[in-house]
Amino acid sequence: MDNQTFYNFTITGAGASGLWLANALLQHGLLDTNTLCIVESDANKANDRTWCYWATKPLAPTVMVSKEWQSIFQLNLSSHSVSLAPYSYYHLRSADFYSELKSKLAKCTSIYWRNEEVIEVNDVSTQVDVKTKSHNWQSDRVFLSALPPPSPTQDDNKLANQRFLKTQSPSASPLFLWQSFVGWRVETSQKVFDESSMSMMDFNVAQGNYTQFMYELPFSSGEALVEMTRFGTEKLSIPEAEEELKHYMDRKGCSYKINEVEIGAIPMTPQFDMHRKYLTQNERIIYIGTLGGAIKPTTGFGFKRMQVYSEKLAQALKENKALPTMHRPYRFRLYDILLLRILENQPDRGKEIFEQLFRTQPIQRILRFLDEETSILEEIAIFSRLPIRLFLKSLTDHLLSL
Ligand SMILES: Cc1cc2nc3c(=O)[nH]c(=O)nc-3n(C[C@H](O)[C@H](O)[C@H](O)COP(=O)(O)OP(=O)(O)OC[C@H]3O[C@@H](n4cnc5c(N)ncnc54)[C@H](O)[C@@H]3O)c2cc1C
Repeated sequence: MDNQTFYNFTITGAGASGLWLANALLQHGLLDTNTLCIVESDANKANDRTWCYWATKPLAPTVMVSKEWQSIFQLNLSSHSVSLAPYSYYHLRSADFYSELKSKLAKCTSIYWRNEEVIEVNDVSTQVDVKTKSHNWQSDRVFLSALPPPSPTQDDNKLANQRFLKTQSPSASPLFLWQSFVGWRVETSQKVFDESSMSMMDFNVAQGNYTQFMYELPFSSGEALVEMTRFGTEKLSIPEAEEELKHYMDRKGCSYKINEVEIGAIPMTPQFDMHRKYLTQNERIIYIGTLGGAIKPTTGFGFKRMQVYSEKLAQALKENKALPTMHRPYRFRLYDILLLRILENQPDRGKEIFEQLFRTQPIQRILRFLDEETSILEEIAIFSRLPIRLFLKSLTDHLLSL
């Protein structure tokens, strides 16, 4: 363990956004003259999740991709799969991502790794002070993908409050749902999966008072990840998920064994949205990943956005320009709020909305809409085919809450 007391940059958390950013700093030559400390509390980080994203080409390094699908099934809407072209849907295991990027970063002698929990981060006017239980150091800039736990020497969650004060308008509503899921990686006794097509939202599951669906990623004709997913204010419990997963697998009509289980929850909230396009010059604590607003509140996807943001951040640092945030255009933030409000107040209508979306729109337009790349005309075309009254009511409620 080195005992340096200064690094030009610190990244807290060697998860998705932390490693993407370290990789971008390295690639843009910023570590030729600067030092970087990467501090991660979890010494045993392994295959703790799988990541999927759609894109026209895979994110580099492409060896991380473990499976690619070129078509999609909407199982309860049609018996035919639909081509995703020009997109593919990519899958990678987090273990491959961690090991691939870490082994690349390990070759850089300007990077210092610390396996410790950050317990305090303080902006001390010209630098940032970072503390763990056994070390204390300063950095010009600290990129935070994880908040330190509340500490007795720091007033009541000061950092968390500061995080929200900087990004959220004080009157914004505390809309908050969970995208929670339990997935089984199953191996079946017969060839029951079509490995060329994935399925994103199969609503042929009990809804309860939530919006719930099954997600299926077939790796071969006899192996798939099937995942029960809930959008709701309460997380899906394991027994609830298991019941639906069993029904789902029973319908495949053969025996199976469960090789892996994936359990997770992603916040669905506009609270992390960045309302400003750029950071001010004296902001030295920079939020990345989930905390920086990478996750789209209505989908839970953020992996690709984290990579794109890392590139932009590194480029701006290199050119000594104003640092960008993960700002999203106002209208897309508003659409997310309107849908989240509906999912929170009338969760039983979620199924109808998503089914109508998939039934009436080409998949490519849906993916572009979710990537926030559609035009206003296309968005009108989308909303005009959705239960528009629900959205107008949601808009009225939202405006009244401001
Ligand atoms: C199970 C699961 C599956 C997901 N699947 C997808 C997907 O398919 N596609 C997609 O786009 N998004 C997905 N997401 C959403 C999102 O991409 C991930 O949550 C992503 O990992 C978030 O990246 P992050 O850098 O913000 O946080 P993380 O990847 O969680 O990284 C934060 C890191 O900080 C560390 N840490 C925490 N506290 C401290 C501390 N005090 N000091 C030091 N280190 C600390 C943690 O150990 C962790 O390694 C998924 C999320 C989950 C939970």
